[in-house]
Amino acid sequence: MTALLPWQNNLWRQIVGRRERMPHALLLSGPQGIGKQHFANHLASALLCQAPQDGHPCGTCRPCRLYSSGNHPDFLAVEPEKRSIMVHQIRELIEFTALTRHFEGAKLVLISPAEALNRHAANSLLKVLEEPPAECIFILISHASGRLPATLRSRCQQLHLAAPPLPMALAWLKEQGCVEEEGRLALEIAEGSPFRALEMLENNRVAQYQDLLKGIHSLISGQEDPLLVAREWKSIGGEWVVPWMLAMTSRLGRHYLLPTRGDDKTDPARAMQKISEGLDLGRLLALYQHCLDTRRLQAAAIPLNEPLLLEGLAIAWAEAGSVRQGS
Ligand SMILES: [Zn+2]
Repeated sequence: MTALLPWQNNLWRQIVGRRERMPHALLLSGPQGIGKQHFANHLASALLCQAPQDGHPCGTCRPCRLYSSGNHPDFLAVEPEKRSIMVHQIRELIEFTALTRHFEGAKLVLISPAEALNRHAANSLLKVLEEPPAECIFILISHASGRLPATLRSRCQQLHLAAPPLPMALAWLKEQGCVEEEGRLALEIAEGSPFRALEMLENNRVAQYQDLLKGIHSLISGQEDPLLVAREWKSIGGEWVVPWMLAMTSRLGRHYLLPTRGDDKTDPARAMQKISEGLDLGRLLALYQHCLDTRRLQAAAIPLNEPLLLEGLAIAWAEAGSVRQGS
């Protein structure tokens, strides 16, 4: 049985005391890569466990063993098929809630990520939550709970899990075998998200981030063809490039408004400095909006022409730079 992550203990204490009066529906929200799924799994197994210890799952009873092996008959996980959670999946969920329980205790439904529910599925789920079936607990996980219909949110008790403080995240990364300096850099790029930082370190993505910064600098200084740069971004993957770019433009914007001391000598900090020198605030805000729109398109449950989106971004950077050069 996996233990809770060190930064989840406070939230755990908040809800473990309510085991006997658990709400029908919980919405676990917070940024991506901070362990919400981990927390939800721990909670689900604790609620299914027949001999919880201090509120934690015992790990040895039959329900705990069934849960660990992914075969607990009173547990249902609902995840996107391709990009969305569809209405037929909510119909299956309703059938599941109507079945008789195999064990004493609750039946558990875990929906992740809830923002993947398409409109029809969200409406059907809302009807279920308006008249919740007896002995059923719904756990919804969301990286972007603001995108859920307000009616659905209002049916759930919200639990927010924040990114851990830097020293705690860094200590955890070191436990996973990371070197401090690299861990610190990865956490900065991953906006404090430990799992995302770990994934970056394990897949050499820190170097790719540096390449992204170099590519942007070459675009705004007019040294590189946007279509070639967009092709490089395609090989990194839009699911990484766009969030990095969004975080980066947001950080550059903050830097304009609240300049910080120039004592950060890391490579990314120097590259960011060069980029900000090539842009004015108006252009930067327009780029931020462009990145935000692209991110929203990526998150929406629709098929995308990703190379075209990346080309659009590369052209926007090049144009932003040319304005500055021409002024
Ligand atoms: Zn147990």
